[in-house]
Amino acid sequence: MLEATGIPTSLNQSPVFGPVISRRFGVSLGVNLMPETGKICTFDCLYCENGFNDQRKTHDGYVTLEQVTSALEKALAAMAEKRERLDDICFAGNGEPTASPVFPAAVDAALSLRDRYTPEARVTVLSNGTQAARPAVHDALLRVDRNVLKLDTVDAAYIAALDRPRVPYDVEHQVETFASFNGHVIVQTIFLCGSYAGRSLGNMDEAHVGAWLSALERIKPEGVTIYTVDRDTPAPGLMKAPREALDAIAQRVRDLGLPCIVGY
Ligand code: SF4
Repeated sequence: MLEATGIPTSLNQSPVFGPVISRRFGVSLGVNLMPETGKICTFDCLYCENGFNDQRKTHDGYVTLEQVTSALEKALAAMAEKRERLDDICFAGNGEPTASPVFPAAVDAALSLRDRYTPEARVTVLSNGTQAARPAVHDALLRVDRNVLKLDTVDAAYIAALDRPRVPYDVEHQVETFASFNGHVIVQTIFLCGSYAGRSLGNMDEAHVGAWLSALERIKPEGVTIYTVDRDTPAPGLMKAPREALDAIAQRVRDLGLPCIVGY
């Protein structure tokens, strides 16, 4: 097994970065509603590629709607002018996009600009789901093409240790919220091994996987993505899940009748 390095990777540019090549989404242009000087997130995951929240403090606020709309239009117009392929416009970046006060309006701007410049591209949101029950956020997530929400097991103690929510977080409420999308949701879950601060962080045992599968049966997502840590994580001691273990979990998801992608 490959141990993560304990080295945080860099922050993303803001308000637009890329395009990057995504195995899942193809050629993807990133939309980052957070400042490029730091990270703002409602979680503080041990595996966050942006580093720990404390390591990435910033005094700058979220980007404005005008800033993101202008930058996105400029990028899309330039790509269209050069006839460059674009498959995806993805809300992600230095933290939790749905926590930004301009998130719902930014989604509408992205959908409108997508229709004008690159109608074949999909609009995706990668979110930890902590704000998904807020009506304006919920409605915006229903409007995007891919609503990808994080659920790293349904064990509250495990989530407290791995994802380290910085806002009130109730797993049962999250499962109910995810189910309220009536299938317009893709559940994304990380599986890993190793330990941090003396606590085992393995989540591939039956207690974790079985309860998580039961939650998927309730949520009835349109798809599930499972993956594992990459080499660069802020916490040392995290280790990649073995490929065979991920494949076995994916098969159990498919046995429920749900499509499952494995990212490795
Ligand atoms: S939810 Fe995403 S951005 Fe926030 S700490 Fe976790 S991995 Fe990082």
